Amino acid sequence: MTEEQVKKATDHFANLVREQLERVERMKHEPDWTDFSSLDKIIIGACSGDGIGPAITEAAIIVLNFLLDSEIKSGKVEIRRIDGLTIENRVKVMKAIPDDVLAELKECHTILKGPTTTPWKGNKYGWPNIESANVSMRRELDLFANVRPVRVPEKNIDWMFYRENTEGAYVLGSKGVDVSDDLAVDFKVITNQGSERIIRAAFEYASKNNINKVTVVTKANVVKRTDGKFLAMAEQVAKEYPQVEWDDWYIDIMTAKLIDPARQSSFRVITAPNLYGDIITDEAAQIQGGLGTAGAANIGKRYSMFEAVHGSALKMVDEGREKYADPTSMIKAAAMLLNHIGYTDESAKLDRALDICSQYEKKMVVTGRDTGVTGEEMAKYIIETIKSPDLEQKWKGYQ
Ligand code: NAD
Repeated sequence: MTEEQVKKATDHFANLVREQLERVERMKHEPDWTDFSSLDKIIIGACSGDGIGPAITEAAIIVLNFLLDSEIKSGKVEIRRIDGLTIENRVKVMKAIPDDVLAELKECHTILKGPTTTPWKGNKYGWPNIESANVSMRRELDLFANVRPVRVPEKNIDWMFYRENTEGAYVLGSKGVDVSDDLAVDFKVITNQGSERIIRAAFEYASKNNINKVTVVTKANVVKRTDGKFLAMAEQVAKEYPQVEWDDWYIDIMTAKLIDPARQSSFRVITAPNLYGDIITDEAAQIQGGLGTAGAANIGKRYSMFEAVHGSALKMVDEGREKYADPTSMIKAAAMLLNHIGYTDESAKLDRALDICSQYEKKMVVTGRDTGVTGEEMAKYIIETIKSPDLEQKWKGYQ
């Protein structure tokens, strides 16, 4: 050990602490929620991403174009393509999000985003280890709430996850320090402001939708400072919602209980710091029918971004199977986007059609291979289902 190594590491840490204290100050002065009903024009930015991203994003755009046809024609809504968020561009400028792309994103009111590849150490494509575009976008646009619905009617599962998106174990994920060849240290950050807004969002959702249960997931018994702060904040916020019951679970046992038939349907709204939320939402998506079926909302007060839960599935592209990728995750994301910007009827219709097409009727099935239909065919099947005059009746018939 050399004093030089210790000094370098502590200087690095000191800079991170300064950055985080500044972030806390920014959070204290964050702007109010966007009021979509007061906008002359709503701009939806559409980024295709990498791997299977372009194929499944295109399928979602076909559906959005159909549902928003008159709004687009009247100029009330614009779907604006943003092409530069590709791994090739990001590697070229060695940035998680190139500056010009970030500027374009900030001109939109909401974003539909295909999965983006995050290079990993030693990847076979030779990409350098740059930061995740997702992590960066969530931070740059302050998209603090990652909201993911999971429904499995036959198991009586109706979950809504509120995963914290801007802090925890990921926000400084690429800012760890190699103190020496033998010692690496990463950092995890939790603040009062960051915890309060996500926990409050979860309780607000429960309260507005007459749901009587919020579950808070941490590992506060072991990770005492940061997880302890999150749990303490939950206790404080919960007092303002006496009509909503709440409980807390540790992440390890929670992963087990989500697959326990005796317990799983008792969970309703679930909130967790970043890493734990990432793990349990992937697990939940699998229970729903696989990663290809899950959409996610990333919501902040000013901006919002809607995406699939899964990644760019490079393996599928390497094997030439991208056109068979399941687009329902992106189409689900589009339904959540419509709801967020105020097109609640269109969103509800799309949700009904998604339920019918991928859970009940299943006239067409996407298998990820040529044994099933293509993503584009699936999108057209969903549109035909939306068009059917007895959509609601049909859906009710399956309940
Ligand atoms: P992945 O989620 O991309 O895919 C894993 C496997 O799941 C695929 O090989 C495929 O078999 C299946 N799959 C995923 N989506 C599917 C779909 N729509 N239809 C059919 N099958 C589907 O995980 P990965 O391969 O480990 O990650 C690839 C890249 O994506 C990595 O660089 C990762 O960092 C990135 N990623 C991005 C996001 C995001 O942009 N939100 C999320 C997770 C991972």
